[in-house]
Amino acid sequence: MRVTTAFSRLLRLGKGVLVKKVGFKGDTVVVEVALRRRRLVCPECGYSTRARKDTRPENSVWRHLDLGVWRLELHCRRRRLVCPEHGARTEAVPFARPDSEFTRDFECLVAWLATRTDKTTIKRMLRIDWRTVGRIIKRVCDEELDPDRLNDLFELGIDEVSWKRQHNYLTLVADHQRRCVAWGCQGKGENAADRFFVELDPDPASPSPSPQPPASQPREAPEPAIMVPFGPCPTVPAGHGVPAAWLADGSELDPQLLARASKLRAVSMDMTGGYAASTRHYAPQATICIDPYHVVQLANQALDEVRRGYWNELRSLADQDAARRFKDARWALLKAPNKLTDKQAATLARLKAAGGEVWRAYTLKEAVRAIFQPGLSLEDVTILIDRLLSRLARSRLKPFTRLGKTIRKHRDGILAAIRHGINQGRTEALNNKVRLITRRAYGFHSAEAALALIMLTCGPITLHLPHELHGLCAA
Ligand SMILES: [Zn+2]
Repeated sequence: MRVTTAFSRLLRLGKGVLVKKVGFKGDTVVVEVALRRRRLVCPECGYSTRARKDTRPENSVWRHLDLGVWRLELHCRRRRLVCPEHGARTEAVPFARPDSEFTRDFECLVAWLATRTDKTTIKRMLRIDWRTVGRIIKRVCDEELDPDRLNDLFELGIDEVSWKRQHNYLTLVADHQRRCVAWGCQGKGENAADRFFVELDPDPASPSPSPQPPASQPREAPEPAIMVPFGPCPTVPAGHGVPAAWLADGSELDPQLLARASKLRAVSMDMTGGYAASTRHYAPQATICIDPYHVVQLANQALDEVRRGYWNELRSLADQDAARRFKDARWALLKAPNKLTDKQAATLARLKAAGGEVWRAYTLKEAVRAIFQPGLSLEDVTILIDRLLSRLARSRLKPFTRLGKTIRKHRDGILAAIRHGINQGRTEALNNKVRLITRRAYGFHSAEAALALIMLTCGPITLHLPHELHGLCAA
């Protein structure tokens, strides 16, 4: 077998790619390839033509999967074409995405690893820097993300996560039923939620990327039609279809009837109000739920406030030793009791014996958590929440009376979350996963790359390794 034939089989670059020459340069195997096809293809839209504008004066270079300990580079002299839509472009190659310096196989390995392992491992193993990883992930995400993932959304959660430093936020929309992140953008609050709803139901007047079938499309034998009720309907739950008749030609359907936002039954969020305002505007039929996760978070903040106040008091009394002991108590207080280490459990026992404000604050925090324990019925929770509200009002601890007022204001939203089965465990698990990934994404230069990593890890995507894509079976 000739070397070029062997490499052609080894590299699997796709149909019409010819290996011309193989050589070595430093630590790299350099493989020269040529495109066998006559037609030139636009990398943006797939338009193809036989007319060539010119040939680029230099070889294009892509990094491919390593060959043993060697790096492997593909070199190819490419032609340019003039696309009626995109103008002068260098022709597309089947083995790499447009404007990438890496082959698809290499990029798919990077994406797979990035969702599973840490920065140092990837950098060292693949010999690339972390920012390059960010750019690769962005490309893979843009291509792999299912455009239909925003169809059939019924129960959502909107929340933000801080990225990099403070005041840098990503807003994420989670699909509670599929337990994945369906959408994300930079920024937070009402604006970010508005952007989501606009993308969910693009204004038909403005040009949208999603293809709208032309109204005058010739209709052949119509298939059974489905009618989707808008808002509460006494017989059919929102989002479920019922058979219906075709509209007469020429008549128009109210676009609201087909709006994807009109299928939403519940949207869960925090208590700041921005997401609620946007939801009320775009999906007025959806129930606004307060994520239990955020209620517990507020209780933790209130406890921390009490603890800090007490600690400062100790310090001003110049009891340095007690102050230091007390500072270490922070995690013993904030963690769930069943997750404490032995040392933290002992610290907690000491705090209990000492009693006082901090212990009282701790029991109040635990009472808030108790409301959201799994297995409680709506009636149970209603009783517990009202009992808690009167306890908080009488607590004589300022942060907790304030917490009581906030919970009272959002009582309906909290109960709605329980009714819709949006419990703490469900939202917290996804939240923790997102937070972990966001920390890993700190080194990326752009929010888009951080968002892409979240979507690749928590989104509706299944990533494959190169050998799986090429249909070579695993062990
Ligand atoms: Zn084009």
